[in-house]
Amino acid sequence: MTPGRPFAIIYGVNVVKIGVGDLKARPGSELEFSFKADWGNLTTATSIIPVLAPVLVRGKVINTGRVLLVQGQVATTLELTCDRCLAKFNFPVIAPLEEAYVTKNSQPPGEDEEEDREIRPLEGDILDLQPAVTEALLLALPMKWLCQVNCRGLCPHCGQNLNEGQCHCQGETLDPRLATLGQFLRNLEGEDTHGSTQKENFKGPEE
Ligand SMILES: [Zn+2]
Ligand SMILES: [Zn+2]
Repeated sequence: MTPGRPFAIIYGVNVVKIGVGDLKARPGSELEFSFKADWGNLTTATSIIPVLAPVLVRGKVINTGRVLLVQGQVATTLELTCDRCLAKFNFPVIAPLEEAYVTKNSQPPGEDEEEDREIRPLEGDILDLQPAVTEALLLALPMKWLCQVNCRGLCPHCGQNLNEGQCHCQGETLDPRLATLGQFLRNLEGEDTHGSTQKENFKGPEE
């Protein structure tokens, strides 16, 4: 079980590939990897997310005899947009990377040991980690994107970012009659596709 050395690691923008020809030939062996790759934007159903820092990918590939098992970690910083105040903020991510790859010639995995695992096909001697890294980053996204836990959002009337200071609209609500009207107007705004409420239904990429 001595850590092997990859004969090739290829990486660039959105490219993370490991040569595993040597590893495939030696069941029970493993090889470690660690590198940084530049990454383009991530895309979800509702957002395009800039990746602000190179993605650090590290871990090992283990030849279990049945599959090539990747266990590791990806880390970077994403730029998210706050659901409440629409400000952009940095979101550091450290996410687990765990994947299994099977070659055409290897035996199908036993039901007992790999029952819940999605197995990716491996053709040739190059293991392409790009889909796994992208998926790991997407799975690390929070349900709600908030610049801070107690973000105060935008004023529904004038659009003022309430984290940066109170707006003049607040004075109106001191009059009880206008407060009722204000609440009525806020309810109306809550029903349309106002940006600050739109992402409430965002469920993340796992669907
Ligand atoms: Zn915010
Ligand atoms: Zn206001």
